[in-house]
Amino acid sequence: MMRVYLDHNATTPVHPEVYEAMKPFFQDQFGNSSSIHWAGREVKKYVAEAREKVAELLHALPEEIIFTGCGTESDNMAIKGIAYSWREKGKHIITTQVEHHAVLHTCQFMEKMGYEVTYLPVDSYGLIDLELLRRSIKPQTILVTIMFANNETGTIFPIKEIGEIAREKGVIFHTDAVQGVGKIPIDLQSLPVDILSLSGHKLNTPKGIGAQFIRRGTKLSPLIHGGGQEYGLRAGTENVPYIIGLGKACEIARRDFDQRVSYLTHLRDRLQQGIESRIPQVALNGHPRQRLPNTLNMSFLGVEGESLLLNLDLEGIAVSAGSACTSGSLEPSHVLLAMGIPPEVAQSSIRFSLGWSNREAEIDYVLEVLPRVVQRLRDMSPLYQRRMHQV
Ligand code: PLP
Repeated sequence: MMRVYLDHNATTPVHPEVYEAMKPFFQDQFGNSSSIHWAGREVKKYVAEAREKVAELLHALPEEIIFTGCGTESDNMAIKGIAYSWREKGKHIITTQVEHHAVLHTCQFMEKMGYEVTYLPVDSYGLIDLELLRRSIKPQTILVTIMFANNETGTIFPIKEIGEIAREKGVIFHTDAVQGVGKIPIDLQSLPVDILSLSGHKLNTPKGIGAQFIRRGTKLSPLIHGGGQEYGLRAGTENVPYIIGLGKACEIARRDFDQRVSYLTHLRDRLQQGIESRIPQVALNGHPRQRLPNTLNMSFLGVEGESLLLNLDLEGIAVSAGSACTSGSLEPSHVLLAMGIPPEVAQSSIRFSLGWSNREAEIDYVLEVLPRVVQRLRDMSPLYQRRMHQV
């Protein structure tokens, strides 16, 4: 049986060049980059190079890049760091209803800490109303935190316009770009973003490394105190092999960017068109154009997304469902619900997220298996049968 991995928004395989670049730093180059002797000095040079590579991908300055443990830590650092640092100015934060839990749960925690949070609604594409954002900013607002691209639907937010509104009102703008980096061009020289979070394992590094862009002059408190590493903003001895891996991944993402984006778009469109021409009663979730090149989220009416996922898994196909199983009940995705999608349609959704190592033959295999599996599940669904007879 063919094994097809279409869940790259969850995590990606380590790029062979990344793996090779990391290897020497587990044994030969094991020094602590803060040590002033030869063992430390050598490593320090490579860490500095890795920082430059991350900065180059984002068109930022090396001293604006902080290495962290993951995307979640970066999001926490931005929100809590700004909230603490700017608490004298005000305690109001603005975000959206469709953020990743790394942002949503952090904002909910801030509410418990006495902050006020506005969760902006979204339209049927998953986009916010920019005028509503402008009107929601008050004198006490200290932070706008809005994602670059949504992890479930791939919808890309108008980051430039959002940043301009925040800047005009003198409010710090943080964006969770965990799904955007490497898939959308990001030029922080021209984008009015103050803080940007990213994660290595969505970019072909191992899990456990992230980074934060902090524009020069942006004041925020560290989350982790200790030694003065990472410009005093993230204490803890540097995770050298993983930092080197992230640097390499960013170098590759920059080098292969155009080729990857056009290849991913081609594969995704082949998958989408194939599904739409072979399976009736399907709906696209998210923006049809303003979308990540690798992401396709579709509802298969009358089919339980979780059952579809499990049945595809039996055929060797790894995808993700738009519902999460919490305490035995299937909760439809908060993102799809916020977009006004009825719960039963949200529950029938599947996210296909592609990677550059996927092949056309894999997409064709999915297109062969999927119609059969959907049909079988629909045949077993009394709800779907009833609905079909009503039409
Ligand atoms: N933000 C978004 C949009 C994500 O998709 C993810 C992971 O799926 C995260 C944050 C968390 O990143 P990490 O897994 O590195 O903690």
